[in-house]
Amino acid sequence: MKTGRAVVTGGAGFVGSHLCDRLLAEGWSVVCLDSLLTGNRDNLASSIATGRFSFVEADVTAELDVDGDLDWVFHLASPASPRDYQEHPIATLKVGALGSLNGLDLAQRKGAGFFLASTSEVYGDPQIHPQPESYWGNVNPIGPRSVYDEAKRFAEAATMAYHRVHGLPVRIIRIFNTYGPRMRRHDGRAVPNFIDQALTGQPITVYGDGSQTRSLCYVDDLIEGIWRVLQADLTGPINLGSTEEVSVRHLAELIRSLANSASELVFEERPVDDPEVRRPDTTLARELLGWQPGVSLHDGLQKTLDALRDTSEVGAWTPERR
Ligand code: NAD
Ligand code: UDP
Repeated sequence: MKTGRAVVTGGAGFVGSHLCDRLLAEGWSVVCLDSLLTGNRDNLASSIATGRFSFVEADVTAELDVDGDLDWVFHLASPASPRDYQEHPIATLKVGALGSLNGLDLAQRKGAGFFLASTSEVYGDPQIHPQPESYWGNVNPIGPRSVYDEAKRFAEAATMAYHRVHGLPVRIIRIFNTYGPRMRRHDGRAVPNFIDQALTGQPITVYGDGSQTRSLCYVDDLIEGIWRVLQADLTGPINLGSTEEVSVRHLAELIRSLANSASELVFEERPVDDPEVRRPDTTLARELLGWQPGVSLHDGLQKTLDALRDTSEVGAWTPERR
């Protein structure tokens, strides 16, 4: 693929910063727009070092514009941790709705494509397992997770409308739980929470009895999937995620053992509408992109542990730390 110039919204976040690094490594120029609501400038050091990267601190729910030609707008801006989006419910609705419309308008003005980072949460608490792209989902429209789920569903609808009405080139990916270096140790998601608790000897907080499942993808695999989707003639939506499904209890025990930690497991109240199971049907990604994750859960968690061990930020999230 020829090189190009991209806007990455949310580029200072966990996934966004890895995407910036990949685009730059492929020879692209990148403009990162991020409000730093849940992102961190420290994630940008390797991108800045290339000299083909610029950072603009901006809220993409306000007017969204950049100078010069553009080939793609990647829209990743959005709180993604359930703790973050429930702490910022209106900002989450706005960035999924207004931020997506602004990104779509920008792409249309520039003759660029629009790439949407959607989510497995569009399937809600799924009644079909594993989840294929053809499944319409089971979302509670007024529950505490709805600000994220419905905003992403709106974003998908808006993306398809611009594609149908204006012929805009678009890509929609549905990302399943992804983890890796640059996650914030206090972002509240299971992997960083368990790692932080294991490293600091605090109790590991399993919500419910821990029998609910997730399928966890290492970030390098996700980024490879995004790169392949970009180059494919493929609107989507397409699932990107791991099919290695584990219970949350197993995840907690695995992280404790990799960290050589003596932390005890404690069982706490289960969040409202917490999906019972989650695993992508990745048939489309395998057949259309030749993509499947290559990093095992064991190896990915070890790399993440090593990276998060070195970060200065400590303290798992608890309601008191809000
Ligand atoms: P993250 O919180 O690390 O990154 C989100 C970034 O968006 C942050 O840098 C934040 O400051 C920025 N942001 C939020 N609102 C903004 C606004 N109004 N204007 C500009 N910037 C704003 O989360 P992440 O895990 O890196 O997720 C990135 C994207 O991928 C999100 O869209 C998320 O929905 C999607 N996704 C992630 C996962 C996952 O497991 N990590 C799963 C499904 C979908
Ligand atoms: N979870 C947990 N303890 C924690 C954080 C999360 O048991 O400290 C559980 C949570 O209830 C869910 C799963 O781990 O069942 C994954 O949660 P996460 O917040 O990582 O992402 P989600 O898949 O819910 O978006």
